[in-house]
Amino acid sequence: MSEMACPRCGNTVAELQNIDPALAEKIAKAGNSEVLPGQVCLNCFTQLAGSIARGSVLHAREKAKEQRKLMLWKSRVGLIKNARVHMNNKAFSDAAVQYEKYIKVLEVVFDVKPGGLTPEQFKESARTQELTVVAGVYWDLLRIYDTSENYGERMRVAANKLGLFLRYTPVFPDITRKAEAFVKTAKNPAVVRTFLKAANESKGRCFIATAAFSSYAAPEVVMLQEWRDRVLLQSKAGRAFVQFYYAFSPPVARVIDSMPFLKAPVRAFLRLLINRAVRH
Ligand SMILES: [Zn+2]
Repeated sequence: MSEMACPRCGNTVAELQNIDPALAEKIAKAGNSEVLPGQVCLNCFTQLAGSIARGSVLHAREKAKEQRKLMLWKSRVGLIKNARVHMNNKAFSDAAVQYEKYIKVLEVVFDVKPGGLTPEQFKESARTQELTVVAGVYWDLLRIYDTSENYGERMRVAANKLGLFLRYTPVFPDITRKAEAFVKTAKNPAVVRTFLKAANESKGRCFIATAAFSSYAAPEVVMLQEWRDRVLLQSKAGRAFVQFYYAFSPPVARVIDSMPFLKAPVRAFLRLLINRAVRH
């Protein structure tokens, strides 16, 4: 009997096993990137065949996980609907349960620890609208948890998250205005005030541009903000203009929000402004 060396491991064996292209493809698909010879020893063959089985188990597990996440992501709509029904019926603790489930769902979908949601996780364009939903959830939770001293910590968490998410949404002026009214009747006004303070620190946001571009994170909005800080705020006349602008822009932004057909012309005007002035 003639003996030969396995081209893969170098062991001397009596017989080599064929690895046909179909098998090689399966091995590669299972995540094995090595360049395989046409024949290997039985030992190598068993190893490689085993890697296919392990690879497909991992693949199936990964697929099931993705499937579960997709189902969870879809389930969030129902949770929000339920919560809003409870809100309307003033069943606040039931609403809070639904809202907390909603947040839990997002944490699982985005693979983050409890309390770990951040606006950055929603950057993917298909999900930026969810930022407004999340901000709305934290705003409701803030008010729900204000009803009892026992929820002080939860209220603080909600306030903190609200501050984090709200500035990326077009409901920023609306909710800060509501919060200013709410602080007068809140049981824990200090928590609401902390939120408002944080919100006001980021108030130098252009409401009109944000309404027109539907997001605080739009590159045009960011450019306009930089222009304000770099150019306008450096002169007395510029500062006066910025002050005047911030006084009248929230109502204008509200009009734009309520009449979406105005968004395109306002966007066009702002882009013109960016090209004429901001870029220089
Ligand atoms: Zn071998």
